[in-house]
Amino acid sequence: MSHSAFSLSLMSPSTPRIPPYFLNTDHRQRVLAQLRSKHTGLEKYIYLNGLKERDPNLFYEVLLGNMLEIIPILYTPTVGDACSNYSHIWRRPEGLYVTIENKGHIRQVLRTWHAGPAARIAVVTDGSRILGLGDLGANGLPIAIGKLDLYIGGAGIKPSTTLPICLDLGTNTEKFITDPLYLGIRRKRPDTAEMDEFMNEFMEAMKDVFPQLVVQFEDFSTDNAFRYLDMFRTKNRCFNDDIQGTGSVVLSGFLNAARLSSAAAGTPLSDQRILFFGAGSAGIGVAKQLMSFFTLLGLGEEEARGRIYTVDSKGLITADRKGLQEHKKYFARTDYDGPALTSLIDIIKYVKPTALLGLSTIRNAFSEEVVRLMASINTRPIIFPLSNPVSLCEVDYSDAVQWTNGSVIFASGSPYKAVEFEGKVYEPGQGNNMYIFPGIGMGAILSKARHITDSMVEQAAIALAGSLTEDELSSDLVYPRLTRIRDISAQIATAVIRAAQKDNVDENGLFRNLSDDALLEYVKAKQWQPTSTHSIPRL
Ligand code: NAP
Ligand code: MN
Repeated sequence: MSHSAFSLSLMSPSTPRIPPYFLNTDHRQRVLAQLRSKHTGLEKYIYLNGLKERDPNLFYEVLLGNMLEIIPILYTPTVGDACSNYSHIWRRPEGLYVTIENKGHIRQVLRTWHAGPAARIAVVTDGSRILGLGDLGANGLPIAIGKLDLYIGGAGIKPSTTLPICLDLGTNTEKFITDPLYLGIRRKRPDTAEMDEFMNEFMEAMKDVFPQLVVQFEDFSTDNAFRYLDMFRTKNRCFNDDIQGTGSVVLSGFLNAARLSSAAAGTPLSDQRILFFGAGSAGIGVAKQLMSFFTLLGLGEEEARGRIYTVDSKGLITADRKGLQEHKKYFARTDYDGPALTSLIDIIKYVKPTALLGLSTIRNAFSEEVVRLMASINTRPIIFPLSNPVSLCEVDYSDAVQWTNGSVIFASGSPYKAVEFEGKVYEPGQGNNMYIFPGIGMGAILSKARHITDSMVEQAAIALAGSLTEDELSSDLVYPRLTRIRDISAQIATAVIRAAQKDNVDENGLFRNLSDDALLEYVKAKQWQPTSTHSIPRL
């Protein structure tokens, strides 16, 4: 096109820059068709990422209308591919990098964030333990972006107030350091003392530069995850989703599962006994949160702890075992002095658990014999194989249904489809953290909580458990349907705000006078909505 023809086309209102029938078509359907025409998850991720850049409203509208299809691309499992390949698929700056070389002037780096001090929620990762993929260094940023998309989609947090941060502290993964396209600094990770110094300066600077900010730690290596949560939870407005979000979502599913199983058995709720298969950071973290189930029923700490049994690769964890790792000591049994129990079958026969939770990463560890044994000692056994992804899951849903003749109360970490067994359709639960963290974030933001307390996390679990509709309850579900996430997040946020008030950490006394219904309406009114319908794409 010549220069003059181009200017003419800009001036003339009749020139068809937008195709003539465009506004009569549903552009969202076109976007979906384009998305579905991509063959790999990574191509779909790249496509969605480009769409978000071109038209964020349209992106979020399509996300909200098609959550079950799109979340696995923006988040697990596909975001794992996006992280592994991030240095190669990178197109444009998307989040904030703070590097170990910025030590001494981190404040100035944070002040460069284009949206300024208005940020309300940051997801911060150091890339050291991304999903199950290990140390991805500076390639960890997409995990923070993906999680924030779920905050936006799930709770209605305003996109412009979200802040994805990757701390680039180096990487111990050699192949990145030698990759000429790798986007991070080329050095090994610092020792604990240097990292702590960095983190102290970083968190202090975050508070100064972004006074309203909630910080969510994500995918730090296990020891650091626990340590930084301890170090900062009373200084900053922060939480760790891998620890607290997971604990809360499993507690929530367990509250509903126990109700169903105890009712079927005709026994009191406090008779539940939980066997954890897998005693890593996730297993022990979840076990600690599940103590709330018993303490909420009025049991003391000792009694609550006594209802929980833990198993690792060496068998039932007992206090007399030599060289027991620190994190396993709390639940180590002192009431068993027989020969070491190593097989899961023998352990189940000894413990007689009402619930079997898997956080072991051992595929098919819940064998037919194990599942049938659970069904023989429980009218309705609770079986939660929580290891992700499906390739590490302890038992598939269809097997669990079949081996228990449909009596199993089931929730897994990864999604399973409904199954038909002897003419009846059974729906599995998914203990997806996504149910919980958007609501915790929204509640903490709206109440301007100074800290995120244990009770805020616990009340989030109770609110999620109580959010099931009549229809969901009559299908014996333990989690609500994810398509209602906006509604569920509003209920969770309301409960989180109330808990913040009880703990006196809220800085927004305004809400204290509102009735629960009015507060819920207020939260819903604060949820950001995308408004793309009939918007004209930018050219
Ligand atoms: P981890 O630190 O590797 O812990 C695995 C645990 O399983 C260890 O205690 C290990 O025993 C034990 N184990 C391994 N092999 C075993 C065997 N043959 N028999 C008995 N126990 C065995 O892993 P993690 O970080 O805790 O994560 C565990 C799983 O939880 C992951 O698959 C993760 O995806 C899942 N997870 C799910 C959710 C969710 O659903 N929302 C959230 C977080 C994590 P030793 O201690 O003796 O090695
Ligand atoms: Mn995580």
